[in-house]
Amino acid sequence: MGGTFDPVHNGHVAIAEGAAHIFSPEKMIVLPAGNPYQRARLPFASSGDRVAMLVAGIGLSSIKVVIDRRELNRTGPTYTVDTLQELRKELGDEIPLIWLIGSDAFSKLDTWHRWQDLFGLTHFAVVMRPGERQLEATVSANLKTAIEHRVVTASELNCQPAGNIVYLALMPPKISSTQIRDRCQNGESINGFVPAAVCDYIEQHKLYLNNA
Ligand code: ATP
Ligand code: MG
Repeated sequence: MGGTFDPVHNGHVAIAEGAAHIFSPEKMIVLPAGNPYQRARLPFASSGDRVAMLVAGIGLSSIKVVIDRRELNRTGPTYTVDTLQELRKELGDEIPLIWLIGSDAFSKLDTWHRWQDLFGLTHFAVVMRPGERQLEATVSANLKTAIEHRVVTASELNCQPAGNIVYLALMPPKISSTQIRDRCQNGESINGFVPAAVCDYIEQHKLYLNNA
């Protein structure tokens, strides 16, 4: 699962837990983005703070979680295709990889660097984000053509290492990092929006008080 995690919140935790339950993966690799090239600005919290919040907030009971810092250590823009190529070198070509992603991000997949190559490197598990329009209404004709023949069920996914798409019927809470940063700035409570340890961390380090 990739993301800016600025900060990690209960929506992220819900999709991670849901996917872990469905796929029982050997491990979950969480990849905080370094310099997300499609964003207008750098993350608000430092890389160190974002990693610390992930470490505090995203321990799953059922499986091993690895917070992978490779994208933070990379200079220049973060391209998922580079990350996946590195992971393939380390893990080999045979093991199934599943990229867990929300529908808002997936619907823009065709704007990612070398996006067509991604299907040769990983599967995608797509979670509908509450409040978002259905994917069919938001994807381009190009992306629609690229994905429609790839859709399978969760149990079919492990038959090959990459190239398929599963839509996961999870019901994650309607939470975003943007909303949490806004609440902090406005002095509103973020209890129930982020894991308790993340709430403590944000308070202790006085994060997101000035998001100008
Ligand atoms: P921001 O508001 O800063 O964009 P965000 O809440 O979207 O933050 P990201 O770090 O951008 O969080 O998201 C990482 C991944 O998690 C993306 O694939 C995104 O679609 C997914 N995601 C985030 N929140 C949810 C949610 N509430 N439900 C489902 N998927 C989510
Ligand atoms: Mg986002």
